[in-house]
Amino acid sequence: MYGSMTKRADAALIGAGPAGLAAAAYLARAGWKTVIIDKNSPGGTARQLELIENYPGFPDGIPGKELMRRFVRQARRWGARFVRARARGVRRRGSDFAVGTTAGNWECRALLLCSGARFKDLGLANEKTLEGILHGAFDEAPRLRGRDVAVAGGGEAAVHQALLLSRYAREVTLICRGPALKAMRRLQSALLRRPNIRTLTRSVVAGLRGKKKLAAVLVRDLKTGKISRLKTSSLFVLIGKTPRTGLSLFRKKSPGFFSAGDIHSGRFRQTAIAAGDGIRAAMACEKYLRGNR
Ligand SMILES: Cc1cc2nc3c(=O)[nH]c(=O)nc-3n(C[C@H](O)[C@H](O)[C@H](O)COP(=O)(O)OP(=O)(O)OC[C@H]3O[C@@H](n4cnc5c(N)ncnc54)[C@H](O)[C@@H]3O)c2cc1C
Repeated sequence: MYGSMTKRADAALIGAGPAGLAAAAYLARAGWKTVIIDKNSPGGTARQLELIENYPGFPDGIPGKELMRRFVRQARRWGARFVRARARGVRRRGSDFAVGTTAGNWECRALLLCSGARFKDLGLANEKTLEGILHGAFDEAPRLRGRDVAVAGGGEAAVHQALLLSRYAREVTLICRGPALKAMRRLQSALLRRPNIRTLTRSVVAGLRGKKKLAAVLVRDLKTGKISRLKTSSLFVLIGKTPRTGLSLFRKKSPGFFSAGDIHSGRFRQTAIAAGDGIRAAMACEKYLRGNR
């Protein structure tokens, strides 16, 4: 299918976040020819985290970048091959898999999908086209010095982002659908100590205004139904995540196909869980490879 320049591996992994990296290290160490494909630098979402304070074994915390550097080193040490490319499609070829990427094609006996999860959209018409709307947590705070910014969401990621932004922004408005924030108590206490963060509970983003750039957010109060206009050029959307399953053409039971990490961890999306899940998938994959020589 994918042309004559196809390379072969025993196992191909899509996604080099903690799940993919842990699985790659395990499989390569077990002696299988392993390739790990990612469209970005290895490390996934965890690489972007300033400090991971709850990964076991690091009592003082560890920057996400450093932790992921160690994961990469470990996978490389056992011979895992890293490919920087976007996986465009996967399909079955007999008992094997064919993986088409932006940098060539691979055939493999086992496929592990570790492509993580992405932040959900609000579902508003001009959400994708207006400048100033970011889906996810980004270290944009210094650029927003003195501005008024909005954050949609009430969970850990949203509250964390609001705290980060409040160091520079004039005012941060946190728009939370539920009656209370869901973030852990420590973050909520920190929030109360920041006078420039305003929290609107039982409220949702009902509309976006602006021509090319965002100019204002319409906020609906779910108690009264009243809509108010919030002037801002920046909105961070952190209302939950949804698995990146676009490439997952196979049912869970397809022989030789495995998945791990945030792609199916539901509410339990954490670095250590993703890494552990990567190992679980790699062990299942290793058993499959042995049994299907
Ligand atoms: C704001 C925020 C704060 C967090 N804080 C913490 C914390 O304090 N502690 C903690 O333990 N965890 C935290 N997490 C969670 C942690 O980052 C994730 O659970 C973990 O990174 C999931 O690992 P993963 O390997 O499943 O997916 P990811 O890390 O998301 O990696 C998926 C990889 O797949 C790649 N990919 C996707 N599609 C393709 C494709 N088609 N082709 C090629 N590559 C592709 C992506 O580029 C990415 O590198 C936080 C997450 C967020 C968003």
